[in-house]
Amino acid sequence: MRFLLISLVFAIGALFIFFAFSTETESPAVSPSETASLSMPAPGAPPEPEMEKPETPAAEMNVINPAVQTGETLIVQFNKEPRSAILNGKTIAVFPYQNDFRAIVPIPLGTKTGTSSIAAEFANGGHFEKTIAVKSGKAKTIVLPPPPKLGMTDKQIVQNLATVNQVVRKTVEEAADITRFNEPFGLPLYDNRKISSAFGEVRQTGSERITHLGVDFDNPKGRMVAAINAGLVKSAYLDPIYGNTVIVDHGRGVYSLYMHMNTMKVKDGDIVKKGTILGTVGDTGLASAPHLHLSIKINGVSVDPIQFVSAFR
Ligand SMILES: [Zn+2]
Repeated sequence: MRFLLISLVFAIGALFIFFAFSTETESPAVSPSETASLSMPAPGAPPEPEMEKPETPAAEMNVINPAVQTGETLIVQFNKEPRSAILNGKTIAVFPYQNDFRAIVPIPLGTKTGTSSIAAEFANGGHFEKTIAVKSGKAKTIVLPPPPKLGMTDKQIVQNLATVNQVVRKTVEEAADITRFNEPFGLPLYDNRKISSAFGEVRQTGSERITHLGVDFDNPKGRMVAAINAGLVKSAYLDPIYGNTVIVDHGRGVYSLYMHMNTMKVKDGDIVKKGTILGTVGDTGLASAPHLHLSIKINGVSVDPIQFVSAFR
């Protein structure tokens, strides 16, 4: 009897919980007429507009790599064109790219490290500011005596470098006000895995210290070298130090340079696509073994090609 009573209490309890639960999850029944009367404006209130205005997305600034090292490139993305974009008090160029806008800012080797700030203003009054942490790029020093085939002393190499670099500087000084590329950059070889000398490496050549301002890909002679993106062949020439050299202008101040090639397959003024064959790997000029030297210069500043290619998407 006592057991039966306890069971009954439990059963009633369970039934109660069931009802309590089911009423809680059920939506309150409201008839259409009731809904209409609920949203009727109060007498004297202004009538509501028929349709809502289409929402314009808010302006946004996205710094892709806010922790940047000297020798790297800062990439900034905007969903709308900003009225101004300023880094450390200097205006930076913004250009349309695919469905948005970009700024490509080279951070030269030797830039003062610490925090900087980037700010953008938009026409609708939007204002963005972001802190950038600039760290020192790690540089490795290697001992590289002057290659005997060149027949030059360390001092002569440095003098010759100054002369040939003047030619390169003049070639890449103009920042074309157009974008010749519309897709990410790639790497120049079929096999880009073996890097024999990284960007920023310091070479102790006799008493001279020479900073390597590009990246060397170890590849056999004769391998095809492709343009890393679309552009205009600004110059294809034989340089006494850099050997057979092709310089491609991608627009917006971005240039790619391919050096020590065995052969060249393009000439000044050629329009190239991403992947167009520019020449073949070689050891012309000041080179001790076949390799491709790739440099990227942005507004005249040499940047780490590998970092730039991976950061600019
Ligand atoms: Zn090199």
